[in-house]
Amino acid sequence: MTTQFEGGCACGAVRYRLESEPMFVHCCHCHDCQRQTGSAFVLNALIETNRVTILQGEVKRSPMPTDSGRPHGIDRCTVCGTAVWSEYGGVAPLRFVRVGTLDRPEALPPTVHIYTRSKLPWITLPAAVPAFEAYYDAKTLWPAASLERRKALFAK
Ligand SMILES: [Zn+2]
Ligand SMILES: [Zn+2]
Repeated sequence: MTTQFEGGCACGAVRYRLESEPMFVHCCHCHDCQRQTGSAFVLNALIETNRVTILQGEVKRSPMPTDSGRPHGIDRCTVCGTAVWSEYGGVAPLRFVRVGTLDRPEALPPTVHIYTRSKLPWITLPAAVPAFEAYYDAKTLWPAASLERRKALFAK
């Protein structure tokens, strides 16, 4: 089984590798994600920052306004501006990697759909994947191995 995943920005200046499977994959249908991507939803692979290796290029952080007032920064290629990942809530050890920037985005399908209350009406969600009107409780949904990884992340 493949456990490493490579990706990059649109111009090719930024290349990165995920050193393992992510802990979980969010498909977020919230209005902020729609606006920030210009699309119907965002796909975020949640993974430890120290498992994201930048192979080449540089990213620059764009601060995003949030309703909660908690910080959200999007890291973008300094050349073409493609968003490659986010840091939410000032949690530096955790990255939300944009699955669409992977070379094989099909390798990481969503494991949860969130904020479906603002999902665009023409999207039909698969019955087999959990979906929530707003956020969800990771403790009840994540596999044990992912919860262990998350615990280790916040223990530091
Ligand atoms: Zn680029
Ligand atoms: Zn969202």
